[in-house]
Formats: sequence, C-alpha cells, structure tokens
Amino acid sequence: FAIRMDDLVLEKELGHGQYGTVQRVYHKRTKVRMAMKEIRLELDETKLQQILMELDILHKSTSDYIVEFYGAFFIETCVYYCMEYMDAGSLDNLYGTGVPEQVLAKIAISMVKGLKFLKDEMSIIHRDVKPTNVLMNRKGEVKLCDFGVSGQLDKSLAKTNIGCQSYMSPERIKASSRYTVASDVWSLGLSLVEMALGKYPYKFDNMFDQLKAIIDEPTPRLPSGYSKEAQDFIDQCLQKDPLKRPSYGKLLDHPFIIHYQTVNVDMASWTKLAIAQRENSI
Ligand code: ATP
Ligand code: MG
Repeated sequence: FAIRMDDLVLEKELGHGQYGTVQRVYHKRTKVRMAMKEIRLELDETKLQQILMELDILHKSTSDYIVEFYGAFFIETCVYYCMEYMDAGSLDNLYGTGVPEQVLAKIAISMVKGLKFLKDEMSIIHRDVKPTNVLMNRKGEVKLCDFGVSGQLDKSLAKTNIGCQSYMSPERIKASSRYTVASDVWSLGLSLVEMALGKYPYKFDNMFDQLKAIIDEPTPRLPSGYSKEAQDFIDQCLQKDPLKRPSYGKLLDHPFIIHYQTVNVDMASWTKLAIAQRENSI
C-alpha cells in the first residue's frame, strides 16, 4: 500500500540536515510510528516520478542493519521519505565523550554487515557514511540510513555545501574520483574513531585546512586504552591508498570483529544510559 500525507499525524521534529527536516510521524491506519524525511527539490514531475521508482527497490530490501523503508510520496516539489523510527536517534547524539571498545566493536559489526548487505544484495554504495546516518533504538540495534539508492535523487540534491565536517576520503578530495566501496570504508573508519573519541577527529578552523589535513596529516587513531586489534581495524580502513583498504568480507574476518562477534555486550543498557546522559547534559 502507498503512504499518503493524509494518513500521517506529525508528532515532533527529530532533527534537520542540509536538505530538509526529519519528523516523527504516526501512521494512523497501521498504528506505526515512522520517521519522515522531507527533501526539498526543484524538479519537474517526471524526475520526481523517477525518484519514487528508484526508491521502490527499497521495498525488497530487508536487513537487520538497515533502517526499514516504508514508502515515499511527493507533494509539489518535496519528496517525503518514510522510514523506520529509531527511538535512540543517531550516534552523534549518543557517543558522549566516547564509546567503550566493546560497544564500538558491536557498532562496527553492524555497520560492516549493513554496508556489505547494501553492496552484495542491492549493488548500492552508501556514499554518506557518518555518525548522523548511523541510528540506534532502545533495543540496542544499530542500523544505517540515508544511503544513495536513487541516482536521480542524488543528482537533484544541491550539493553546494559539503558540510563542515568531512568524511570524504583523500582520493575523493584530491581527484573527485568516482565513488567506490573503498571510499565508504574510509568513512566507516573515520566515523568509528569519532565515536571512540567523542568528537570529530580532525581539528580545523576552516574547510580548506581540514581537507588539507585529511590528505597530508597522519590518519586519526583511537585514544589510549583500546586494543591493538581495534587500532589495526581502524588503520586498515583509514589507509590513504584506496586500493589497500579491505573489502567488507575481509573486515568481517578481522581479529577485532572475530573476537567481539562472540562477546555478549548489553547494547540495550548502554543505549539507555547514553540517552540518560544526553538528557542530563542538555
Ligand atoms: P546531512 O544533511 O548532512 O545528511 P544529517 O544526517 O544530520 O545530515 P538528516 O539526514 O536530515 O541530516 O537527519 C537529521 C537528524 O534526524 C539526524 O541527525 C538524526 O538524528 C535524525 N533522524 C534521521 N532519521 C531518523 C530516523 N529514522 N529515526 C530517528 N531519528 C532520525
Ligand atoms: Mg542523515
């Protein structure tokens, strides 16, 4: 069935990014809470139809590591994208002063499995891996959102502002080369370091210096206290030569992942604690 605006009750704003706002909505017919992303575009009807068609392939995608897609519609020139509501929000709002190694490991496992699913099952490169696009719920599940499913949607976003915190890999900054899986592996590594540090790893006053640092400076490292396996996992992802970065299959065989795969980590309790700490600090 198709979702229509009439079926939705707007509940509250969850946040906003470069292209629009995300709201929590309630779908009356199914009694399901959803997150609805409004993306403002200036496009004609045929392009909008093409975007909806491209998004439609998401209906056949189900993975425990990917935020579920419920449907999309457009009104005038806005696309409304309805997805699973993740009640703990994004990792940038949860990591606080940094996540402990075992939590980082579980997040890494989910992220790699999510990225591998997109690539293997759907032939999709994520293109926007960063902490705001890694969502959690109070059950402690970690899922990816905002991947590049629709070529037309991607083209239609006015990408003038690349944001003040870049997760772009050195080869993309240098050569604006084609986006590859290896670029996502870089962004994965950088996002994990950020979650461990509790802040974006590069210090910068302006965009130019920051991009220069990504190319010229040694790659960011985990803070002290993390295992050498964890550090090696990060080092593998953050190699400046994209050809040296491992595939997802290889990353899943890394000792850091193999070790924590069988360790039981209470992610639900950690998530609830992180939410409580966030609420205290506001
Ligand atoms: P950018 O515009 O650069 O992609 P962003 O990812 O922060 O940045 P949005 O994708 O618009 O911007 O999301 C805004 C915020 O809404 C996110 O930071 C996240 O906290 C929240 N959010 C997005 N999707 C969901 C969801 N499915 N469930 C709960 N919260 C969400
Ligand atoms: Mg996002």
